[in-house]
Amino acid sequence: MPSIAHPTLPKAKIEKIPVREPVRVRRPSRDEALDAVKTLIRWAGDDPEREGLIGTPDRVVRSYEEFFSGYEEDPVALLQRTFEETDGYDEIVMLKDIRFESHCEHHIAPIIGKVHIAYLPSNRVIGISKLARLVEVYAKRLQIQEKMTAQIANTLDEVLQPKGVAVVIEAAHQCMTTRGVHKPGVSMVTSRMLGVFRTNPLTRREVLSMIGTPGGGSGEHV
Ligand SMILES: [Zn+2]
Repeated sequence: MPSIAHPTLPKAKIEKIPVREPVRVRRPSRDEALDAVKTLIRWAGDDPEREGLIGTPDRVVRSYEEFFSGYEEDPVALLQRTFEETDGYDEIVMLKDIRFESHCEHHIAPIIGKVHIAYLPSNRVIGISKLARLVEVYAKRLQIQEKMTAQIANTLDEVLQPKGVAVVIEAAHQCMTTRGVHKPGVSMVTSRMLGVFRTNPLTRREVLSMIGTPGGGSGEHV
């Protein structure tokens, strides 16, 4: 593969979304959360005290702990623990098809899809498991796909300071498939390109061809 580094190109001026978004809310007690689930069961039209539903509030609250565990993790700290020297490696590093499950912040309905991450290192690389963990940190929050795409790219850009970062996400939104317009089989593709992937058309084309045609793959959509 030919060298595609263009270190003299200026970084494109783009608006910066802060990587750390401190969320400061008063968390309710566990009992308050259980009561809230009972309220929603009554809102659905059923009796939270009947036998089949008696354990449901507890299960839902525990599911929420798992679905939204990303608020407890600091993505920057996560990446900072694992710098490695590159020994001059200066080609694209890519992790494809990172499956994720998230929840849309408008309906709290699942978003299921995959993330492709590429970067062109300048002097540091990171273990691939950390890239997958980074996806998890942002997926396990209430999300919109566009924001998640930008957060992953911006965090990598800030911490690794590579020559370029590309993040592409393709996902199906259950708020579209199971309610509202009821359109199954539709996937949304979002991307964020930084550094040389943004400023250099050749480099951008190379990374996009490495990712392949989003949506044209195995079609494992919900
Ligand atoms: Zn939604």
